[in-house]
Amino acid sequence: MKLTEVKKILTEISRGMMEIVFPAEPVCPVCREEPALGRGLGRKCLNRIALIVPPICSICGRMLRVHQASVSKCLECSGTEYYFSQARAVALYDGALREYLSEVKYRYRPDLGIALGELMVEWLKANPKYGKFDLIIPVPIHPQKMAIRGYNQAELLAIPLQKHLGIPIKNDIIIRCRFTETQNALDRESRFSNVNKAFQAVQAGALAGKRVLLIDDIMTTGATASEVSRTLLRAGALDVKLLTLAAGVIDKQWLHPEVKGKF
Ligand SMILES: [Zn+2]
Ligand SMILES: [Zn+2]
Repeated sequence: MKLTEVKKILTEISRGMMEIVFPAEPVCPVCREEPALGRGLGRKCLNRIALIVPPICSICGRMLRVHQASVSKCLECSGTEYYFSQARAVALYDGALREYLSEVKYRYRPDLGIALGELMVEWLKANPKYGKFDLIIPVPIHPQKMAIRGYNQAELLAIPLQKHLGIPIKNDIIIRCRFTETQNALDRESRFSNVNKAFQAVQAGALAGKRVLLIDDIMTTGATASEVSRTLLRAGALDVKLLTLAAGVIDKQWLHPEVKGKF
């Protein structure tokens, strides 16, 4: 290979590197085609996020199907006692939001995590009656995961919320003391036993009488958030409400009774 060719290749590589580090024009991280709005998604992908809309379960905030609209609790909450008093999520964990979150979790994009937190601020602005809070606590991740990922995504989401609510984020009150198996592959029952006693309050005094806004990226069964809430209540918190960016769909609950038998 001639020297000029080598030089050309090196120039191309360094230009590519520069574009990764300092993108000329921020591009939407999901479709990689349209321009990004601020640090976030492009308009097209933003519109593809399926927001959670009423009717919802009064406890866990999951969307109720039309045939459940006359009840206030979903099937899940009728059979489960959660330690948080209420939970709400901004959107369904699906499509563009799913891709967006995986960028944050697996491709080191802390800027996107903070941008996603803005969606949660918008939700709180639209739902000011959700509650009054003294503290924001992001669901902790295990130090081992923290070391791999470089940050706790729930903490990133909490940053814009802190600004909006004017209350502190506390990430040193509760720790994840047990490395738990990833919940994805587990069924509902195992998810609850998997996180049992996984958290520990290390500054109990700081929680006395406090109303906590617990923040996480995704709620699926609610097992993790409930276990954190249990730990917070045992350490003296007055109340815990959960706000997540996304909520997973629990399939069976979404099925119409007439088709349920097929699954
Ligand atoms: Zn896009
Ligand atoms: Zn529910």
